[in-house]
Amino acid sequence: MSISPFGALRTHGAGTLRAEHDGQTVTLAGWVDTRRDHGGVAFLDLRDRSGVVQVVADPEASEALEAAHRVRNEWVIRITGTVRTRPEGMRNDKLDTGDVEVAAQSVEVLSASETPPFPIEDGVDISEEHRLRHRYVDLRRPEMLKILQMRARTNSVMRRVMEAHGFIEVETPMLTRATPEGARDFLVPSRLQLGRTYALPQSPQLFKQLLQVSGVERYYQIVRCFRDEDLRADRQPEFTQLDIELSFGDQEDVVALTEELVVTTWRDILDVELEAPFPRMTYAEAMRRYGSDKPDLRFGMELADLGEVFADTEVGIFKGALEAGGSIVAVTLAQGGELTRREFDEWVDWAKGRGAKGLAWAVVEEDGSLRSPLAKFMSAAEVAGVVEAAGASPGDAIFFGAGPTHGTRELIGALRGALAKARGLIDESRWEFLWIVDAPMFEQTDDGSWTPVHHPFTAPSDEWRDSFEDHPHEATAKAYDLVLNGFELGGGSVRIHDRSMQQRVFSFLGISEEEATAKFDFLLRGLSYGAPPHAGIAFGMDRIVMLLAGRSSIRDVIAFPKTQSGSDPMTDAPAPYEETGLRDLGLRLRPGIGDDERTSGGKSEGKTSGA
Ligand code: ASP
Repeated sequence: MSISPFGALRTHGAGTLRAEHDGQTVTLAGWVDTRRDHGGVAFLDLRDRSGVVQVVADPEASEALEAAHRVRNEWVIRITGTVRTRPEGMRNDKLDTGDVEVAAQSVEVLSASETPPFPIEDGVDISEEHRLRHRYVDLRRPEMLKILQMRARTNSVMRRVMEAHGFIEVETPMLTRATPEGARDFLVPSRLQLGRTYALPQSPQLFKQLLQVSGVERYYQIVRCFRDEDLRADRQPEFTQLDIELSFGDQEDVVALTEELVVTTWRDILDVELEAPFPRMTYAEAMRRYGSDKPDLRFGMELADLGEVFADTEVGIFKGALEAGGSIVAVTLAQGGELTRREFDEWVDWAKGRGAKGLAWAVVEEDGSLRSPLAKFMSAAEVAGVVEAAGASPGDAIFFGAGPTHGTRELIGALRGALAKARGLIDESRWEFLWIVDAPMFEQTDDGSWTPVHHPFTAPSDEWRDSFEDHPHEATAKAYDLVLNGFELGGGSVRIHDRSMQQRVFSFLGISEEEATAKFDFLLRGLSYGAPPHAGIAFGMDRIVMLLAGRSSIRDVIAFPKTQSGSDPMTDAPAPYEETGLRDLGLRLRPGIGDDERTSGGKSEGKTSGA
């Protein structure tokens, strides 16, 4: 015996009925989507996951008509009736079932509903908070159900590809020890061992590496990860990764597998044929040309370095930046001369809002001169040099930043994206994938200490294997990130599989031997029992589904997401907890206490010490 396709209570899905069902008796069940009650006859649009069909109740079936008068929107009903094709002229092109209707013989109420908190229709303009509070109703909207289905199909396509290549899904613990990925941990205090806590995994990184030591060779997992960070539109405290690790392979294996995953997903889900292999760019080139380690290649606007043009300048801010070893970086906005003075000022404020001291701008005039607050300080040669280096034409605007090289490139890179967005210069129909390779191994934090750019288990590039400690500014890692349209979809690396190399990296990061033993003894021991060379990657599934679904917030593709402040308006989590339960855990919650430590001493958001 097998499960009936629509459940024992129904014979068909409402959205599946077509002219070919004409004359058939069907039993349907679902929600009342809309009603039009004309007294003598009532029309109910019945909705289930498969779609909507019109049901008609008329006096020929008086009990059914009686019931149809009583029901309200969002009541759950079950009807039995006969499918009939609608007369010409009465067809509804907007419905897939618009050629037919069902003449009800019986209407049974399965469940009444209060007036819904908002209309169950696509594109409704209601606050997200309100939608999330009533998420069970919000998800009834067809566009939301479609996203859930798309997400499930994406998972299944990816599983198919992974399994075709011999990867096995292995579950790793949720109650575990901290895994450093640069965020804070969510903690779960232990009742059986008072004074100790588990951490929820920021990623399964160390377990997937240890599975390679175990000889699993090809591991994957669609897995929930937890990172306690300040939230942005595309971040959630818990999120899902496609997590991958393989033995006896290197970057090329991971790249090839990833490209097959992506190409197959885009083909199966969107019917889009992508071109692979995807281009690769070094981290250094991406920063130089786009001011970003995840450049959006759907538009040009490459950055220009104006160091040579202003080598002997008398323009104070430029001179100061160069003397301090920094850079002057520019981006050109085609037809930017149309911006008003006020709009230029707003972009300057935008830059200041990101912590920049300022932002200079200039408009190229017909005669090649510059209209700019700075123009009077520039020599004629500088003016000509700027226009040429920036690749600008008359009518274009040039924006300049000056200061420490990395930060200035990041600022002008972010401006590039913001300008393109604001001026509608991005071709939204394009999918621009890109690999970023040869990322630096470390970066320096404000206090001068070093932190891994990826994570501390990433292998140095071969040329830096013996000397990364002496050249931490230049040393690159065997790391790779996959970027799409300005978003980082995933990242991974070849790992350190040699215990002494792992210890060298820890010690360079200032992790003492005692600390390394206390935190990572299990890893170090694992590495000393025959660890094969291994590499891996992880993809943010929420972000991938967000882009596939054409949404701009990952909350739209998560069934029960959290708001920006990390709460769930539906369950009201996080919530206070009963005193007795806390006592069993040896805990006392102190609301408000800790705020000061959080802002001053604690880990800040993003990449921190990494261990
Ligand atoms: N564990 C890494 C992360 O979660 C991914 C990887 O290196 O495989 O970002």
